[in-house]
Amino acid sequence: MAAPDLVNISGLMDDAKCFAFMRQHRWPEGVCCPGCGSPAVIRDGCDDTQPHRQRYRCKTCAGRFDDLTGTVLAGHHQPLRVWVLCLYFMGLNLSNRQIAGELGLVVSDVQAMTEQLRRGLVAKVPAVELTGEVEIDEVYVVAGHKGQPAAVAKRAGSGAGASWQARRAAARWRRTSRPSSG
Ligand SMILES: [Zn+2]
Repeated sequence: MAAPDLVNISGLMDDAKCFAFMRQHRWPEGVCCPGCGSPAVIRDGCDDTQPHRQRYRCKTCAGRFDDLTGTVLAGHHQPLRVWVLCLYFMGLNLSNRQIAGELGLVVSDVQAMTEQLRRGLVAKVPAVELTGEVEIDEVYVVAGHKGQPAAVAKRAGSGAGASWQARRAAARWRRTSRPSSG
């Protein structure tokens, strides 16, 4: 079968609309500071290399942030339009391999992207908190037992094994359900 000139869909995407979509999705009630939650923010120019990525300054805490700050998309090497397209293809039930073919990416990159997108387009990067019990994938860290390594080892050992999937799921739930103020 003769291959026609393939459409490079990514090249047809409108970056401005992708960032507008992102803003609407992340802040349906209006832009809020990810640091303190204040809606008193003012625009503060745009990103140096991504002209549609709006920067903001918080009038309450003086913090600076932009459209992607604090999300899993911040600092990623793929342009936002590639993420949006990836999300669209996921909605069509394309496999990671098919998405990789459409976007001209390697499958392992697409797999990492779809895993992140299943947590949400604007899912927050898990914040490190040194209180309570903090789980990082299968690693189980119990805070508050300084000087009592035996107690920590016993605690971690008792919960290891069969229930790690449940604890991992619970950790994922905690990450995705953490209130914005936290
Ligand atoms: Zn603030």
